[in-house]
Amino acid sequence: MKITIHRGTHQIGGCVTEYEHEGWHLFVDYGEELPGGPKSGDLFVEELTHGDLSKSALLITHNHGDHIGRITMLPKDLPIYMGKVGRAIQMQLSRHLKNVDSKHEEMLERLSLSNPFLNVFEAGKPFSFGPFIIMPVTLDHSAFEAFAFKIEVEGHSTFHTGDFRTHGFRSKKFPELISKFVGTVDCVVCEATNVLRHDAAVLSERDLQCQFEDAFKANPYNIVYVASTNIDRLFSLYHAAVKAQRLFLMDRYQKHMMDLVVESGSIWGKSELYNFKVESKPMVLEYENKEFRVNDKFKRKLAQKGYVLLARPNSLFDNLVERIPGEKKKYLSMWEGYVTEDSEAYNEKLAQSLGENYIFMHTSGHCDMNSMHELFNMLQPKTIIPIHTDAPNEFENIFGNKWRVVILNDGESIEC
Ligand SMILES: [Zn+2]
Ligand SMILES: [Zn+2]
Repeated sequence: MKITIHRGTHQIGGCVTEYEHEGWHLFVDYGEELPGGPKSGDLFVEELTHGDLSKSALLITHNHGDHIGRITMLPKDLPIYMGKVGRAIQMQLSRHLKNVDSKHEEMLERLSLSNPFLNVFEAGKPFSFGPFIIMPVTLDHSAFEAFAFKIEVEGHSTFHTGDFRTHGFRSKKFPELISKFVGTVDCVVCEATNVLRHDAAVLSERDLQCQFEDAFKANPYNIVYVASTNIDRLFSLYHAAVKAQRLFLMDRYQKHMMDLVVESGSIWGKSELYNFKVESKPMVLEYENKEFRVNDKFKRKLAQKGYVLLARPNSLFDNLVERIPGEKKKYLSMWEGYVTEDSEAYNEKLAQSLGENYIFMHTSGHCDMNSMHELFNMLQPKTIIPIHTDAPNEFENIFGNKWRVVILNDGESIEC
């Protein structure tokens, strides 16, 4: 099996990996490059972006823009494989964004179940494409359904990690999943986002939730800026608000995102985390004259009980925040680079909505290096190829004395 990293050897966004065997081409992910990083621009890849596609397919690990964002640029007859719940979440996101960005109209068409080139898979249910046998394994990440793949061909196997972490709500079963569905492998193509933060003690999602609960108990009136696709965080905030006995406010779009998981029929949908308490359901904001409705009764209720409002940086929410009662505490629960002025990912609107005196409460969606050690001990690979990283040499410094780490440049291949 030949592995080619078309992009992502020296940057965090836009990873594209190819597995090739006897003329069959299995690609993994085709997303956007991240703002702020180095750019390689449009890719020109034989058997993917053009040429003969009769023995090609694309697997998508998860619905973050840096993994799925550019699939609309690919030929329409390229078979695409995506997980069931992640597809539903992306459809919801694209329906929400289609009026702002026309790319999402195309995304809806590509991911429609009536598209004959779309194939949906489920965790733990292997499928084949040409000579490849693919085992999808869901790992915890800041996107709800993030897959790693064990890719096997004629007795050789590679584990493609996708984005993952071991400090999330759904990480407890991580070692069990690896031993049950993956075992040992010849090669690992590994995300290495947090390689420069290898000393950082990782705050678990559970500990972050406790911090939110304490904050909501101490402050009655809370506004949290959080990504609507970070569904674990949405549920975490909801339960923290319930425990602090505050009202939980959100708009229809965010509620739909949460409902997708509740109603997904996946094993996670049955857990307490992904369910609403009958006695304290979230309050979904109503509209009136193109703004959120705020009447006296609503204001009284908010003033009396206190609240946690999930907000987004736009004039609709800015206007709501001004009209609801209380001395508000604002929180940023996403990467701080979005509001750091010299960062190229700087989001002026977010910084403006958030103001000066906000509290930063967040934890990474990516794996820390100690847990990475544990993963490699389980997988016992002969070769490790880091991708999704801006510091591959640092990755080699950490792991190179125990494992064979191969650093490629974009477009280079290795026989595995
Ligand atoms: Zn991701
Ligand atoms: Zn990513």
